[in-house]
Amino acid sequence: MNEQLALAVRRRTDDLVALTSDLIRFPTVNPPGDAYTPCCEYIARRLKAKGFATQFVRGTGAPGDSDRYPRTNVIARREGRSPGATVHFNSHIDVVEAGEGWTVDPYAAVVKDGKVFGRGACDMKGGLAASIIAAEAFLEIYPDFPGAIEISGTADEESGGYGGVAYLAGKGFFSKPRVDHVIIPEPLNKDRICLGHRGVWWAEIETRGAIAHGAMPFLGDSAIRHMGALLHAFEEELFPALDAKETRMPVVPEGARRSTMNINSVHGGQTEDFFPGLPSPNVADSCRLVIDRRFLIEEDIAQVKGEVVSILERLKRERPKFDYSMRDLMEVLPLMTEEDAPVPSAIAAGIREVFGKEPEYVISPGTYDQKHISRIGHLHDCVAYGPGILDLAHQPDEWVGIEDMVQSATVMAMSLDVLLRGVAPPR
Ligand SMILES: [Zn+2]
Repeated sequence: MNEQLALAVRRRTDDLVALTSDLIRFPTVNPPGDAYTPCCEYIARRLKAKGFATQFVRGTGAPGDSDRYPRTNVIARREGRSPGATVHFNSHIDVVEAGEGWTVDPYAAVVKDGKVFGRGACDMKGGLAASIIAAEAFLEIYPDFPGAIEISGTADEESGGYGGVAYLAGKGFFSKPRVDHVIIPEPLNKDRICLGHRGVWWAEIETRGAIAHGAMPFLGDSAIRHMGALLHAFEEELFPALDAKETRMPVVPEGARRSTMNINSVHGGQTEDFFPGLPSPNVADSCRLVIDRRFLIEEDIAQVKGEVVSILERLKRERPKFDYSMRDLMEVLPLMTEEDAPVPSAIAAGIREVFGKEPEYVISPGTYDQKHISRIGHLHDCVAYGPGILDLAHQPDEWVGIEDMVQSATVMAMSLDVLLRGVAPPR
């Protein structure tokens, strides 16, 4: 165990709590994407004082970006004494709205029972604070380190990351040679390494019919009944088939260790308020359905789409007047960094030292910003690792444990040691 480094982190415990609390007090709620600029300025001020060069990049033109709600991002970089690899810690600064059911003020950063409470405490201001403390402790002990350390606070992860990591990746911030290794301190629990996520396909399917008077539906053709036939086929064939597909991906929770599909929405027929409170007296000539299909590394996206299209085509052949169109809304391929890549190996070494056990490798059921780093930045040595309990994210009374943050920051500092100084800890 690198006691010196571990102590340098632990000595900063009060600072870690204060930093987490300060970050929670910025109500960076998304949507609309509030308080990004002051939050980024706060991070920049802090890191500038530690010798980081800081830069603000606005995700101009990204969804939600406006002068009132600029998609502000901050990137800080600390050069080492000699050339070497660059390790980047990326955290999103946005949080989801507080919602109902809180027993404390979600933006007051209440500290009690060894926990910091607040919206974003766990997802993921605690992780951001832990990464800053890890870097500062490392700089104190190894001021002459080779390479560089980067820390970013980015916008909009909760709404897809388009004004944040996707925008920055498009500008080269997440590509070699600028960056070699990326750690995203999302709350996946302090002794787990998240190697990636399942794939996503969102699509809108529209069935069409013919409008007619509701009293004489036989003169028209109901698009909603056609959609009903599709939903029936999904229930009979597709859902059981998806449920039977298992994966070698260690997805958590275990229920997500198979293919899933959510029916996000169905909209059919004319307006529901023909006159206020009165429905339209017509046969529906259109019905739209949005599906959210999550798929596995063993599945090919063409095959995933093909399963749906083949049902639609069969209905078209067999069901009189059935017609449809389909539109892709989003596609993200499944991602899984190999366990023996440099970043997961370095974090695993840190976890062994701090917890005296092997890490657990997991896959997230949903996507996060790693997708942009991989797809746009073409950087694949990236994982999510950070303190905080995944299940608490987006919940009322969200909290992050102080000891969890200290231990996690220690693992991060030791990972820096492995990745930058090449010091392999004893096994
Ligand atoms: Zn998050």
